Amino acid sequence: IPTPAAPKIQRLDEAVVNRIAAGEVLQRPVSAVKELVENSLDAGSTSVSVLVKDGGLKLIQVSDDGHGIRYEDLPILCERHTTSKLSTYEDLQTIKSMGFRGEALASMTYVGHVTVTTITKGQLHGYRATYRDGLMEHEPRPCAAVNGTQIVVENLFYNMIARRKTLQNSADEYPKIVDLLSRFAIHHKNVSFSCRKHGAARADVHSTAASSRLDAIRSVYGVTVARNLMKINTSDNDQLSSNFEMVGLISNANYVAKKITMVLFINDRLVECGALKRAIEIVYAATLPKASKPFVYMSIMLPSEHVDVNVHPTKREVSLLNQEIIIEKIQSVIESTLRSSNASRTFEEQT
Ligand code: ADP
Ligand code: MG
Repeated sequence: IPTPAAPKIQRLDEAVVNRIAAGEVLQRPVSAVKELVENSLDAGSTSVSVLVKDGGLKLIQVSDDGHGIRYEDLPILCERHTTSKLSTYEDLQTIKSMGFRGEALASMTYVGHVTVTTITKGQLHGYRATYRDGLMEHEPRPCAAVNGTQIVVENLFYNMIARRKTLQNSADEYPKIVDLLSRFAIHHKNVSFSCRKHGAARADVHSTAASSRLDAIRSVYGVTVARNLMKINTSDNDQLSSNFEMVGLISNANYVAKKITMVLFINDRLVECGALKRAIEIVYAATLPKASKPFVYMSIMLPSEHVDVNVHPTKREVSLLNQEIIIEKIQSVIESTLRSSNASRTFEEQT
């Protein structure tokens, strides 16, 4: 067989590049919901409501009561790499917001139709603008608005035929969104969240700015979960090895479930840590004879230089500096909490 002729290398159209990049940032409807809700939280909202139609393919609407978006900023709002959260690379070191790369809204406009309605403090009316392919389609139109921002994404992946087809056949999309909102609701206990399917009479997640985390868990995951939780906390101040603080709620021996629920926030970011999750499962299996799968809510705070936030937006899996030491400490506090609760339970049963 003769060697084929060398093919010509071409520069891709910017529109093609942007659509490919957008498809990576937004893998499925729940990724868009996560970006929108994080924007609402970054805007200091105390109330975030989500409305979803067709698992998010037809419509995702996120409304908040945050600080809103300035009129002057609307023209560049959905361009790639426009953000109010970061200006120098060094800011990454101390950044507290969840967003910073200015890519989420832009991505939505490359694979869906975006409408933004927003009002800032002290204004008599708001503005509404629509966006496609990074650009504002027309001058913002004055409109009635109460407070904050509402972002609507319609026809997500309308121009990615294969992606849309696979997602259309999936019944998992709405449950994934409900799961995401449930997690946010229990961590951000001072924010009220709701998540509703279009046409449904009641919300599937409904939390009021609760007074305690246990209240928040009760309203989102139900009384049976909340009733069987125990508080844990541990910390380490060793500047050289590990330096962290952890607070959490973990299920006791009465809690029964088919699989583990692990809600993990590190420095207020919703993340996943496979190593920590496995380590916790091991402790449960070893300590509780009937080895039930636990419910775990955990919030870990670390010095910001110990977590690399500069990872791709879709990479929720994190690894930490001094991970082994931190995991060991957490394992041991869980083990002792389980042992002492189990001991008092046996004692109660005997008496
Ligand atoms: P990032 O969050 O990384 O900055 P985004 O594309 O998600 O990038 O958002 C771009 C900018 O739009 C944000 O920096 C913020 O200033 C503004 N913004 C987006 N959503 C909201 C919102 N719900 N409330 C107020 N401002 C918002
Ligand atoms: Mg963002």
